[in-house]
Amino acid sequence: MPIQSINPASGVLLRSFTPLTDEELQQKIALAHDAFTHSAELPLPHRELCMRKLAHLLEEEAAELAALITSEMGKPITQARAEIAKCAAVCRYYADNAARILAPEPIDAASIDASVRWDPLGVVLAVMPWNFPFWQVFRFLAPALMAGNVGLLKHASNVPQCALAIDTLVRRAGFPRGCFQTLLIEASQVEAVLADERIAAVTVTGSESAGRAIAAQAGWLIKKSVLELGGSDPFIVMPSASLDAAVTAAVEARCINSGQSCIAAKRFLIEDSIYNDFESRFVAAMDAMKVGDPALEDTRIGPLATAAQIEEIHQQVQAALHAGACVLTGGERMLGRGFYYEPTVLAGVPRTSQVYRQEIFGPVAMLFRVADIDEAIAVANDTPFGLAASIWTRNRAEQARFAAELQCGAVFFNTQSASDPRIPFGGIKRSGYGRELSAAGMREFLNAKTVVIAQPKPAP
Ligand code: NAP
Repeated sequence: MPIQSINPASGVLLRSFTPLTDEELQQKIALAHDAFTHSAELPLPHRELCMRKLAHLLEEEAAELAALITSEMGKPITQARAEIAKCAAVCRYYADNAARILAPEPIDAASIDASVRWDPLGVVLAVMPWNFPFWQVFRFLAPALMAGNVGLLKHASNVPQCALAIDTLVRRAGFPRGCFQTLLIEASQVEAVLADERIAAVTVTGSESAGRAIAAQAGWLIKKSVLELGGSDPFIVMPSASLDAAVTAAVEARCINSGQSCIAAKRFLIEDSIYNDFESRFVAAMDAMKVGDPALEDTRIGPLATAAQIEEIHQQVQAALHAGACVLTGGERMLGRGFYYEPTVLAGVPRTSQVYRQEIFGPVAMLFRVADIDEAIAVANDTPFGLAASIWTRNRAEQARFAAELQCGAVFFNTQSASDPRIPFGGIKRSGYGRELSAAGMREFLNAKTVVIAQPKPAP
């Protein structure tokens, strides 16, 4: 893909960039490697100060940074501001908690003096998507830099201005040259970067195809990889739930970021006795969502990020209809400029159809009626993905069963699924492997180095 900023609200080309040449790329990798070689000169308290400064800069410049997100990938401006605030929060979380997470751990065992120290791995390549152009990057960079790793970012080709803005912010926060750099490169150049022996590890957030290609190469090279891929998360509503709260959250969970979130609820599994009530309220609420200019304060759904994105959604909805599904609302592209799609609700998508097993990355919900908890769990697990689940029930026994039996990386009861710096984030099955955020996320790119000190033998 060409490296271009195109405003999705108008389709107008804002800026285009020439990819780095091989020589420029080599210089940046050398700089990153050099920064890691000298990382001992940047002790933890100094890194902490830089990370707090970074949080401060984000907050101070939130208005401009949010506007940049909105113009480059179409996120509604209120959500873009919230994204910047969340980036500041993750910086502060790791500034506050890095010393605790990185502290050596004594092994509690008799007759052995052993401990584990947490050492950084080196230069980590981050291949990132456009949907949360700041948050996805910050949830990698904050733990990585606090741990003493060095980051190289290959951002999605449609958000180069966000990528460059992050690079500049990290430098202005005081991190030395080379600690974090944006590489304006195409996807085809990733292979050469990862193959470079100065790159220690890779993290990928994106589609299955990107994850598969990069992880295959990383496996061959025996380099550590973390994959955060797609999802088709279930949103399950049982009779004991507050239906008002569930419907409000369901609409929010499907439409956040104009439906382009890995952890968005995509399949809605409603227990039979409350299905009709839920369906009518949900459809009315989806219908009432304000779609429009993402720069306006009251817009809830903006354009999709790219022309390709809207084409894919359109084809998926058409495929669902051909397979026998029906449209309860929406189902069409919106006419005029920009990449807008109507908030859409589908019912009766056959479980044998191809689209049932795919991720729909836009404001399109699939509704399913389930007889009871057994069927809810069976349908929820009947997907190649396993990112998260949002379950609405006040029944403790049901909560225990869902928590134990759902095949995914996280379950949220009576609230929508969301990432948070304090809790691990990640999936299983084809949603990927490894975790981000919390101590678990930081430790993905650390060497748990065992240190054993033999006791001197008593003199004979
Ligand atoms: P994508 O096409 O896979 O792009 C993601 C990144 O990978 C981009 O930087 C892209 O570069 C690069 N890339 C793509 N193919 C590559 C290849 N073969 N080799 C090397 N790099 C490659 O994904 P997307 O459409 O931007 O993002 C949407 C997907 O990301 C959805 O499936 C969503 O669920 C997932 N996602 C997951 C999470 C999570 O945490 N689990 C979070 C957000 C999004 P170019 O832009 O240059 O092609």
